[in-house]
Amino acid sequence: MSRQQIGLLGGTFDPPHIGHLVVADQVRDAAGLDEVWLVVANDPWQKSATRPITEASKRLAMVEAALDGADSLRACDVELEEPGPSYSYDTLATLQAGSPEVEWSLIVGHDAAVGLPTWHRADDLKTSAQFIVVNRPGAVETLPPGWNLETVSVPGLEISSTDLRHRIATGVSVKYLMPDSVIDLVASWGIYRRTE
Ligand code: ATP
Ligand code: MG
Repeated sequence: MSRQQIGLLGGTFDPPHIGHLVVADQVRDAAGLDEVWLVVANDPWQKSATRPITEASKRLAMVEAALDGADSLRACDVELEEPGPSYSYDTLATLQAGSPEVEWSLIVGHDAAVGLPTWHRADDLKTSAQFIVVNRPGAVETLPPGWNLETVSVPGLEISSTDLRHRIATGVSVKYLMPDSVIDLVASWGIYRRTE
């Protein structure tokens, strides 16, 4: 029997949107993965210095709501169990240690892949981790050389959490850009209402 293959799509998910869901769903099929897990960052250290981040438990709840009923897509809260910054290297090591029989890979959008050399323990990740890179509108920079990067093409969706936060802050509709269940949670908490 071949090993179970699970792809990890790490992110801040502040908030999760259709772009994340399409990536997860398309990559699962295109790369022949059994499952894709959306890994919610506890403290996204490269972002938290520059803007306020919604508390992790709320971002996890939004991802869970977004994935409700999704086939083989799961929310992963492993990074929320440890306080402090979240590093993909540590997350991968934790999951690998817990389930060594699984073949793990890391899914990243092109914009994130460009920044791989700046990630924590980049040299170790570079030699140990298998990455799946998806296209993202506007991300055109050259991918870093020497990494294990497989590319998967997905329908390009020009949607970002940054843009959605601005839309909500300025009262512009976000319908169809994120699941209704997430829109309802955002409204009930009143988050993103003011421009940051
Ligand atoms: P922000 O604008 O706050 O950075 P984001 O939309 O980029 O939010 P993240 O949580 O930063 O969302 O992204 C998590 C992962 O999903 C990253 O690897 C990112 O490249 C990828 N991703 C997000 N949106 C898209 C999209 N529309 N198409 C392809 N990849 C995407
Ligand atoms: Mg981003």
